Amino acid sequence: MTRVTASMLYNHVQCPHRVYLDEHGDPCKQDPVDDFVELLWERGNSYERQVIADLGEEYLDMTQYHGDERETKTREAMIAGAPLVYSARLSHGDLLGEPDLLRKVDGQRYIAGDIKSGVGYEGSIDEGEGKPKKHYAVQLALYTDLLHSIGMGAEGKRAFVWDGRGEVVEYDLDEAQGKRTPETWWQLYKRIKAEALAIVQQTTQALPALTSDCSLCHWKTHCRKIIETKSDLTLIPELGRSRRDTLSQEFGTVQDLAKCNPADYRTKKDSTIFPRIGIKTLEKFQERAELRIAPDSKPYLKTAVNLPNIARELFFDIESDPMAGICYLHGFVVRESGDNNGETFHGFMMNENTQEEEKRVFAEALDFIRSSQPCVIYFYSKYERTIWKQLAERYSSVASVAEIEDLYEHENMVDLYYDVVYRHMVWPTHNHSIKTLAQYCGFSWRDDHPSGAASIKWYQDMCRTGDIGLRDRILKYNEDDCRAMRVLVDYIRTL
Ligand code: SF4
Repeated sequence: MTRVTASMLYNHVQCPHRVYLDEHGDPCKQDPVDDFVELLWERGNSYERQVIADLGEEYLDMTQYHGDERETKTREAMIAGAPLVYSARLSHGDLLGEPDLLRKVDGQRYIAGDIKSGVGYEGSIDEGEGKPKKHYAVQLALYTDLLHSIGMGAEGKRAFVWDGRGEVVEYDLDEAQGKRTPETWWQLYKRIKAEALAIVQQTTQALPALTSDCSLCHWKTHCRKIIETKSDLTLIPELGRSRRDTLSQEFGTVQDLAKCNPADYRTKKDSTIFPRIGIKTLEKFQERAELRIAPDSKPYLKTAVNLPNIARELFFDIESDPMAGICYLHGFVVRESGDNNGETFHGFMMNENTQEEEKRVFAEALDFIRSSQPCVIYFYSKYERTIWKQLAERYSSVASVAEIEDLYEHENMVDLYYDVVYRHMVWPTHNHSIKTLAQYCGFSWRDDHPSGAASIKWYQDMCRTGDIGLRDRILKYNEDDCRAMRVLVDYIRTL
């Protein structure tokens, strides 16, 4: 009997097709595990070991047992009333779960918890906006379901995450997912569980979809081939899985969508026959589809763009590790009066993983911007702004959040993605990442495996080993990211 596990539900939240492939796909078609995924595993394991070593309370350790024996020992521990069980295993019917922790709360009843090296909530809890993470919630719900099924679950449907900041974040699974989503976390779990089971039993089908989750998935080469062959709608930038599933009732391929007249699908003022897809959205994707299939297709401007005309241009990009909550490099390529040969690179990079170092490089980067005025600063997407605001929250003696907001609001700060590519352009590419667009414009990175995820791995390895070669590799990679923006700006100016 195939059982539904917590990792299956986690994968389903990211991509239902992954559940299918992991169960029924040909293992020979898998890509090797990505270095960054390995880093995440290592980090998760080492954080778990550290939490357990520093626990400061008694617990029963099940790690020495395996399979059915671990399950038997877990049940015995709970029946004996152990206050805390580590590395448990539970099963019942078609469910199997291995919660990191089981904590006795009332009488002989238990709640389950997982140790996660990430933050326990989505968004900012400090600002009261945090909410449970979907992929954590479904895993915790499975453990809670198991505890209730074997008669050991505490009242209500509660669970917890011991998160990467050392905080215990409570998950009330009976709560609604949000103001606009009345479905509770528990109902979500029931739905995802039923879907995962149907996929595994092949009573339903889950199609591949080209999304950002594919980049770290071990099926990416296999799925990409299928998506290209079928000319799947997810080849259109930002269309995504759920819109594909809606639109595919009418348009099976990119060609079908390209040929359509969006006005034929208009209903009321701004709506279409497709739920949650307005006429403007349909027009946008039809335009992109049309360009994608056109022979000799070239990007074009839908509306005019006025880039600031200032002699000094700064192309700015940061390197950060969101899981560890650090920003370790701020890089700038500087060009004067359009002279590519005279451009220079300035990288402000942490030498070790400390708050003092993070504060130092933040202050130096900000000083660099101040001393470079007047200038135009190009960056790509809202990420830099978000991270700089977080840095200002942490290091208010360097700059206040208001100062950072003012800086990014300035007319000479240009978000190349949001202010230009997204608002004014149509590209024939499958996404709008700076890598894809700059490569389209003929730029190539000097590194063989350039990616933000790889940079995080190099930085972690550098901190661990002190390898100076890795420091150079990160700086070079960041310099190329900055230069890629310059290439994109020059290309856009030719249009
Ligand atoms: S490569 Fe993409 S579509 Fe394929 S299983 Fe992975 S996440 Fe899903």
